[in-house]
Amino acid sequence: MPLTALGSSSAPGTTGSRRGSHPGPHAPVPAPATTAATLLLNATYEPLCVVSSRRAIVLVLAAKAEAVDVTDDEVHAERVTVAVPIVVRLTRFVRVPYPVTVPLSRRAVFTRDGSTCVYCGGSATSIDHVVPRSRGGTHTWDNVVAACRRCNHTKADRSLAEMGWSLPHPPGAPSGAAWRLLGHRTVDPRWHEWLGMPDSVSA
Ligand SMILES: [Zn+2]
Repeated sequence: MPLTALGSSSAPGTTGSRRGSHPGPHAPVPAPATTAATLLLNATYEPLCVVSSRRAIVLVLAAKAEAVDVTDDEVHAERVTVAVPIVVRLTRFVRVPYPVTVPLSRRAVFTRDGSTCVYCGGSATSIDHVVPRSRGGTHTWDNVVAACRRCNHTKADRSLAEMGWSLPHPPGAPSGAAWRLLGHRTVDPRWHEWLGMPDSVSA
């Protein structure tokens, strides 16, 4: 649903100048009526980041972005009324360098592995180094997995070969738009389709 500025005649009866107010030719600035957040997409529809809805409205009014999805709420700017956007898309493509890898953290490992033990599929409660640190294993995405206490304790300082265990798939650093936004803030469910996230992923 495209956002439409509702025109300059939306304030009937107040066409006279207001007490020495001289609005210039610059872009109207919306009142700070909303503190909501808006998902910003690149021109290619790739998710970029989350901005304040106020910032998103400024982008729309400046024709630097177009609304892709909007709420029923409206914001009154200087001469126009605009719907508060949920998702906006830049009208021109911008090239943005992203960090090569997601920072490694316990929470991120659990999220990547679905909070399940990679060895037995049970509920994960700990982090395991596939190649034990005592044997030179690194604390990196390709050597860290979620594991249950039992498997972690059983494996101890041995290698997978020694245990006769195997991994369902090689661990690696997560990537993708949703990961760039995870941890940034609460993810609005209405952004899921743009982030490639299933609706069942709760914020
Ligand atoms: Zn296990």
